[in-house]
Amino acid sequence: MYDSLIYGREPSPGLPPNEPVRSYAPGSPERSAIDAELKAMAANPVEIPLVIGGKEVRTGRIKEIRSPHDRSLVLGRYHEAGEAEAIAAADAAAVASREWSETPFQERAAVFRKAADLISSGWWKTLNASTMLGQSKNAYQAEIDSTCETADFFRINPALAERLYAEQPRSGAGERNLTDYRPLDGFVYAVTPFNFTAIAANLPSAPALMGNTVVWKPASSSVLSNWHLMRLYKAAGLPDGVINFLPGSARAISAGALSRPDLAGLHFTGSTAVFNSLWKGIADNLSAYSSYPRLVGETGGKDFIFVHPDADLDAAVAACVRGAFEYQGQKCSAASRLYLPRSIAGRFIERLAAEISSLRVGPPTDHANFVNAVIDEAAFDTITGFIDRAEADPACRIAAGGGYDKSRGFFIDPTLIVSDDPRSETMANEIFGPVLTAYAYDDSDMAAAYELVDTTSPYALTGAVFASDRRAIMEATRALRHAAGNFYINDKPTGAVVGRQPFGGARGSGTNDKAGSFLNLVRWTSPRTIKENFAPPADWRYPFLG
Ligand code: NAD
Repeated sequence: MYDSLIYGREPSPGLPPNEPVRSYAPGSPERSAIDAELKAMAANPVEIPLVIGGKEVRTGRIKEIRSPHDRSLVLGRYHEAGEAEAIAAADAAAVASREWSETPFQERAAVFRKAADLISSGWWKTLNASTMLGQSKNAYQAEIDSTCETADFFRINPALAERLYAEQPRSGAGERNLTDYRPLDGFVYAVTPFNFTAIAANLPSAPALMGNTVVWKPASSSVLSNWHLMRLYKAAGLPDGVINFLPGSARAISAGALSRPDLAGLHFTGSTAVFNSLWKGIADNLSAYSSYPRLVGETGGKDFIFVHPDADLDAAVAACVRGAFEYQGQKCSAASRLYLPRSIAGRFIERLAAEISSLRVGPPTDHANFVNAVIDEAAFDTITGFIDRAEADPACRIAAGGGYDKSRGFFIDPTLIVSDDPRSETMANEIFGPVLTAYAYDDSDMAAAYELVDTTSPYALTGAVFASDRRAIMEATRALRHAAGNFYINDKPTGAVVGRQPFGGARGSGTNDKAGSFLNLVRWTSPRTIKENFAPPADWRYPFLG
């Protein structure tokens, strides 16, 4: 039975290597380089236009970009797009599509391969510094995201696409059969979240690699780094109009994009509620579209760590700290609920609370800070609301953290809640902040414990089990088969790497089209089957008629 769970036995051979991760250790050259870049970027605010058909467009509707960890620091201003600009961008995408859809794959791939090499050779500083300042990520978190994961998408997606294109039908005697991997018949609308610069890179670029043209709406809280991605595409030689950049009002831009008959796909990452609303908007408009739009959405999570009674506790504690609190818990994969066996829960919580209390909180420009600011005031208020309600709930107690302060930036202390109710609010709802809630399960009934993990939240994105005994690992893997699209054994549930752990979940977590795998690329092609007959019959009569 366990055997039947294991589908892909061999690692993917021949993929390009992953971008090496810089350490930013004291005295390293990258540390001094990034410090200089941060200083220069903070001192030179930028004005960011829309880019439609390669032309910079300034609407005069201006929004300021301020740093989440220092509200007095203005990093730039951007022009906001609305419905009219979305329609203009879809027009530009349609014009660009005429050439781009006919551009040979290797030429399209070369643009993104070059972008990856530009990142490795110098642009890493720009992408990391803008992500650190604009999205409040520390140097290491920015590195694994805006440098490494972005370069990995740009290098590995072309290699995966090559494999897909190589998949061709058999040809019998006297015939030639072909699959023509066409792009979709229209434009792709890419809507990206604030939390990963790499996702902002992948959602428009994966369809573009497959020959599509794209209208891209970045999140308003990551416009700075996303603008630098747009500049990077230009530097890498991406033709005008292939990716059109529209920061601004989500509702207005979506209204424009969804009104177009040539909307052929939606590539979304963000919250479940927003994806649902876009799906409904598209469904309401279905008869107006010239084809069925492909809907790809990676959405929310309520990710778990399950500690088995025989687990290595040091490893489990370390995974809780990294998995729950890196990037302030604002990863869709962040551990947010922790299941501990009752027999060891007290000791475990004590140790974990001590580690959490030692984490330093502050701006990412000070490299000693592990935890930085949450993205904006709305997120701050939502997250602290969860903490306040847990504090007032007699079933819960705060075992570490609980403090917060938005006087200078949006800082929330990493917080551990212990709940006696396995379905209390912070055990069940996505918080998207530095809050982990622990529940002690009855280790004399493991089946009931797994059932609880499986049924507590509507999501199924990531999860981790810590156990030593192989039977326990097999049992958890089987019992939690549908509880997570990315399942980790003796590892934290975050940090998926392109080409190694294709990413995505099902249930309320999305369509599970696995970013960073050929499964995602497949969604951006509309194959045409071509049969050529080398010896067509000249007589319609079959022998059986005789
Ligand atoms: P969000 O849903 O608030 O925003 C995502 C994007 O949708 C942004 O560009 C936003 O401007 C846009 N948007 C917001 N309202 C809209 C509307 N009414 N119509 C059209 N577009 C709209 O999400 P976020 O705060 O940027 O990111 C956090 C969420 O993303 C979390 O729920 C997290 O779990 C999820 N996420 C999931 C994954 C994954 O791979 N599953 C990855 C990253 C983030």
